[in-house]
Amino acid sequence: MSELFRTGAAAVLMALLIPVLVLTVKGRLKETEIPPVLPAETAETVTEPVTEKRSWDAQQTVLLSVDGVQQELPLAEYLVGVLAGELPQGFEPAAIAAQAVAARTFTLRSMEQGKHGGYLCSDAACCQAWTPDVDDQWRAVLEDAIALTDGQVLCYEGELIEALFFSCSGGRTESAVAVWGGEVPYLVAVDSPGEEEAPRYSGEVRCSGADFRGIVMDAYPEAMLSGTPENWLGQVTYTDGGGVDAIEVGAVSIPGTQMRKLFGLNSTNFMFTFEGEKFVFRTLGFGHRVGMSQYGANAMAQDGATWQEILEHYYPGASLLAQS
Ligand SMILES: [Zn+2]
Repeated sequence: MSELFRTGAAAVLMALLIPVLVLTVKGRLKETEIPPVLPAETAETVTEPVTEKRSWDAQQTVLLSVDGVQQELPLAEYLVGVLAGELPQGFEPAAIAAQAVAARTFTLRSMEQGKHGGYLCSDAACCQAWTPDVDDQWRAVLEDAIALTDGQVLCYEGELIEALFFSCSGGRTESAVAVWGGEVPYLVAVDSPGEEEAPRYSGEVRCSGADFRGIVMDAYPEAMLSGTPENWLGQVTYTDGGGVDAIEVGAVSIPGTQMRKLFGLNSTNFMFTFEGEKFVFRTLGFGHRVGMSQYGANAMAQDGATWQEILEHYYPGASLLAQS
């Protein structure tokens, strides 16, 4: 080997080493970490790895307390139990998806507010119904609705809304102000047709004159209930949602919400008559009737509405936001 060739080879070797050394210092790479140069044909076959879309719901944790037993669940799994507890099998996919968004929003807002010290309960009248018993076929349907709406929540002015819902309204929902006295811009009365298939769409409570008097006098001793029972009831005023706002009983004005409690009525949407010596209350709808009607949502879905349209109808002014 000639001197010239050796010198040339050394120069080539140095030329190769310098970038490696520079790389070693700058990139803090060890020699063994220098990426290999792949032959062209191999490089062409390298494709971007297919990454599955990460489920936002699966990464959130919900604390749940059922019958005194506390547990920790991924939000996605908790929502399966909520939907199974809240909805009957056979509901339309769009109604289930709308319920998934409402339930997710309700859950996150409750957690944000530290309700029950951070542990949600499974009482439908307090937090949300929840059941661990879900058959495989129904579970697959619910999981689809949850995945479809992954991370989607309802907001108003940047805050999670109070996403209330209930079984059925009897034809029109109620505004929050009519039930709790405070205006909530997205919880207002809206029409809710097509709920007739709901199991508690209509109800009836009968009460003798004596029982009626006893119940009212316990709560309102100042009520004047003497003489003919037919004359005990006076003027009635109604809410925008078709519920009884207040009713005059023995010259005392009693709120419809209070009448619902006293007589165990399905809702404040009631008519009453005095028939055959008995007071008869006939109710429409079940629950507080504020927010989304589950059977109304299903009726909308049967008519072709999307889950977004259902939410827009029952929570007017609220907007959808995707968590990421
Ligand atoms: Zn609760």
